[in-house]
Amino acid sequence: MSIKEAFICGHPVKHSRSPLLHGYWIKKHNIEGRYGKKDIEPENIKSFLKSLKEKKLVGGNVTIPHKEAAFEAVDKLDGAATKIGAVNTVWFEGDKLVGGNTDAHGFTANLDQHAKGWDENPEKKTAIVFGAGGASRAVLYSLIERKISKIYLINRTIEKANKLAKEFGPTVIPLKISEAESALNQADIFINSTSIGMKPDDKYPFELAMLKSTALVTDLVYTPLDTVLIIEAKKAGLKTVDGLGMLLHQAVPGFEKWFGIKPKVTDELRQLIVDDL
Ligand code: NAP
Repeated sequence: MSIKEAFICGHPVKHSRSPLLHGYWIKKHNIEGRYGKKDIEPENIKSFLKSLKEKKLVGGNVTIPHKEAAFEAVDKLDGAATKIGAVNTVWFEGDKLVGGNTDAHGFTANLDQHAKGWDENPEKKTAIVFGAGGASRAVLYSLIERKISKIYLINRTIEKANKLAKEFGPTVIPLKISEAESALNQADIFINSTSIGMKPDDKYPFELAMLKSTALVTDLVYTPLDTVLIIEAKKAGLKTVDGLGMLLHQAVPGFEKWFGIKPKVTDELRQLIVDDL
């Protein structure tokens, strides 16, 4: 049997940790497989995706800036990709190239692992999502899938929050940053899906003391692991979940599609990636 080869394509792609992650599982499960990086210029992404069969590639991950182009290029979309409007994983079903979005799965699986019960009694739960970019779409999809009854969507550029609220329906209530205080003390879960926290001098525009003492705080940013939000939330005695688990869990469905084994997100795997951060 020939070696199965999968990939991550992006531009640039050299900092991606996906090869480390998938390489770990390939070795762990003794698979005759490979997972490599493909730096593809934006003008070539569609032809690259159309040539996977010819190149004997079984599928792969798609990252910035190609997620929307991949959405257009595949033959078929899964439910999450359709709603989120972006593709981060591709695989074959027969001759058809399918595009999926596993970020939503990564988000919920991370919380399921590290904050069990976070979605209990969803009809009574309120979430705050801060940020209305690409990642926010996956978070909104996840929260709605888990039937969280009210979602405040706060964004610096309110027009983007308004647009997402229109798309995702009445559960999502857009708010300006200046209006956030009215929502903070209602939230059971606070999610950062902005890029705030990636730079060491980043400041948070909210007073986290306004959150309930039972609120769960999670950040999508995972470089660094302890973001300004996570540090402040820990200081306030709140339960926190960092963003690395989302990255690890979003990789599971793709690996299973390409190599036929559902891998596990273990402490050993997490440590391998932490050591590389
Ligand atoms: P994006 O589409 O570029 O969106 C960026 C968001 O951040 C926008 O809502 C933007 O607000 C907001 N923002 C940026 N700087 C800000 C500031 N100084 N003050 C207020 N708001 C600010 O990015 P994305 O793809 O959604 O990714 C967002 C973050 O999530 C990134 O750090 C990314 O690494 C992380 N992420 C993590 C995972 C994971 O697996 N853990 C997965 C996906 C993404 P405006 O609309 O006003 O510009």
